[in-house]
Amino acid sequence: MDLGIKGKRALVCASSKGLGFGCAEALAAAGVDLVMNARGAETLEAAAADLRARFGVAVTTVACDVTTPDGQAEVLAAADGPDILVTNAGGPPPGLWSDWARDDFIAALDANMLTPIALMTACLPPMQARGWGRVVNITSQSVKAPIPQLGLSNAARTGLTGYVAGTARQVAPDGVTINNLLPGIHDTDRATALDTGVSTAQGITMDAARTQREGTIPARRYGTAAEFGATCAFMCSVHAGFMVGQNILLDGGATNATI
Ligand code: NAP
Repeated sequence: MDLGIKGKRALVCASSKGLGFGCAEALAAAGVDLVMNARGAETLEAAAADLRARFGVAVTTVACDVTTPDGQAEVLAAADGPDILVTNAGGPPPGLWSDWARDDFIAALDANMLTPIALMTACLPPMQARGWGRVVNITSQSVKAPIPQLGLSNAARTGLTGYVAGTARQVAPDGVTINNLLPGIHDTDRATALDTGVSTAQGITMDAARTQREGTIPARRYGTAAEFGATCAFMCSVHAGFMVGQNILLDGGATNATI
């Protein structure tokens, strides 16, 4: 399917690997020029070189922490009013509700709620002025059903979801869509970190921890960054203009809900 976005410009945050890279890769395959971002310059440059070589698109890299005001200013300057914005950042650490104090919540809110909001606040007006734009926020299945050990994620991402629900409907008249993409367990470094947590907590091997977690997913496997990215690219395509303020869950059926 031709996604109809060849030649558009996208800012894809936190995209040197994992789900962000999957999104950058699928957009590059659709002919979209990219601004890619991550904190580590070396991996970021390698990822950008890979996409330039395979897809012939222009890729600018910005090595910075996108959760800081300076980092946001840097990526926004490089992207210069993009047609497509994909927000992403590392997730909050696991723990128990009794572990966290105000500063922990502020950090999670900064990274996973206020950062995407700041980026949208900057990118939406030029999209509206052009009469076309796409925003996809990478959130989590924890928005649909809470994950006990990820209370900081549950809280921050649900706040973002409420913001998107209201804002998406205010920019839709201008041809701009905002939607959220909710990963369940995907085969990335983040999943390995969470497997490690299970392995340590239960005193079992990493393989056993993975098998245990795969057993909770009806698809009986982790998702891949490539299939996540393909869904993101579709949500950024010309075909998804009637999708407004939605929360698209990619979890292999793990969330046991009718709707
Ligand atoms: P990942 O494989 O660890 O990749 C994270 C990417 O983001 C890397 O490129 C990393 O590069 C970059 N990054 C992290 N923090 C950053 C920051 N502050 N500023 C700029 N770049 C940053 O993680 P992932 O699995 O793709 O997860 C992406 C998001 O989806 C996370 O918020 C995660 O919590 C959420 N999620 C993931 C899963 C899953 O199973 N994978 C499930 C639910 C939700 P640097 O480290 O070099 O900055």
